[in-house]
Amino acid sequence: MVDTGATAEQLEEITNTIAGVEGVEAYHDLRTRRMGQRLLVEVHVLVGSQVTVSEGHMTGDRARADLMRNHPYISEVLFHVDPEDDASHHEKTILPSREELLRRLEQRWQGLDMEPPVERVNFHYL
Ligand SMILES: [Zn+2]
Repeated sequence: MVDTGATAEQLEEITNTIAGVEGVEAYHDLRTRRMGQRLLVEVHVLVGSQVTVSEGHMTGDRARADLMRNHPYISEVLFHVDPEDDASHHEKTILPSREELLRRLEQRWQGLDMEPPVERVNFHYL
């Protein structure tokens, strides 16, 4: 945890609030920066690996709202929604795009008699 702005007391309040948000399984890379009398907060929140993008984002929005409401000394919250704990591996692997994966799957599926036909494909990156 890197603290560049909040007091120890504020950090404890902030972490307690984040930990109490429904849907937040963990958090990391919490950073705070003082801007005048108020704080900017940046944090990564870990959500369930199988939740949808919209649900994960809603969890982040809820964390932001709780932080802003409970701690008036916070002026803004920037959150990153993580589907898996990436705290320990910061080198990002860029995997093939959806378009590329679909192209590869279609090649593999050629000649197969798919009944019922595939209507939807969900990818889960680990
Ligand atoms: Zn992260």
